[in-house]
Amino acid sequence: MPALSHSHTRKGKSRTYRIWCGIKQRVLNTNDPRYSDYGGAGVKLYVRWHKFENFLQDMGEAPPDKSIDRYPDPAGSYEPSNCRWATAKEQQNNRRTTVRLTFQGETLTIPQWADRVKIGADALRGRLRSGWSVEQALTVPVEKKRPKPNCQRGHPMRGNNIYLRPDNGKRACRTCRNKNSKVHNRRRDARTRDARTNAR
Ligand SMILES: [Zn+2]
Repeated sequence: MPALSHSHTRKGKSRTYRIWCGIKQRVLNTNDPRYSDYGGAGVKLYVRWHKFENFLQDMGEAPPDKSIDRYPDPAGSYEPSNCRWATAKEQQNNRRTTVRLTFQGETLTIPQWADRVKIGADALRGRLRSGWSVEQALTVPVEKKRPKPNCQRGHPMRGNNIYLRPDNGKRACRTCRNKNSKVHNRRRDARTRDARTNAR
């Protein structure tokens, strides 16, 4: 058995430790907001795993891209025979509520279709909720959002008035920026001062 590294005993140091804390909260803490879906729904934490050292020994470290998944029974308990480390995608494919869509003879989950047709899973779900047929949802290309003709304060978003914000690359209103900009105000004040000085 590998020796426990000290970091595991301190909160915030180990991802595996934080994951274990999360399980404990959901399953054992009646005040946890998720308790009703876990402990309150009959999900148990294997008694030996009430101690983190035992959980770590049985499950090993959480791989960086994976988290705890109850498998094969997604409604079952946290116990060695029903736990694995899995990626978010692997977990989604294993959910109770997994929706499968059949199109052109193929049945896949929504995330799998999203990969296939290059339309986001959330967009696909939104379309189906809005009453689109499976065929429409999977085949109609995503419409690019049309840029708004005016900024929030009504300045026209055209030509020179548009600039790209350096922090997020999004289109923004130059007039608003100038009105907000301290640098701009300082320069404007300086110009006014210079004008007054020159006028004397
Ligand atoms: Zn504006």
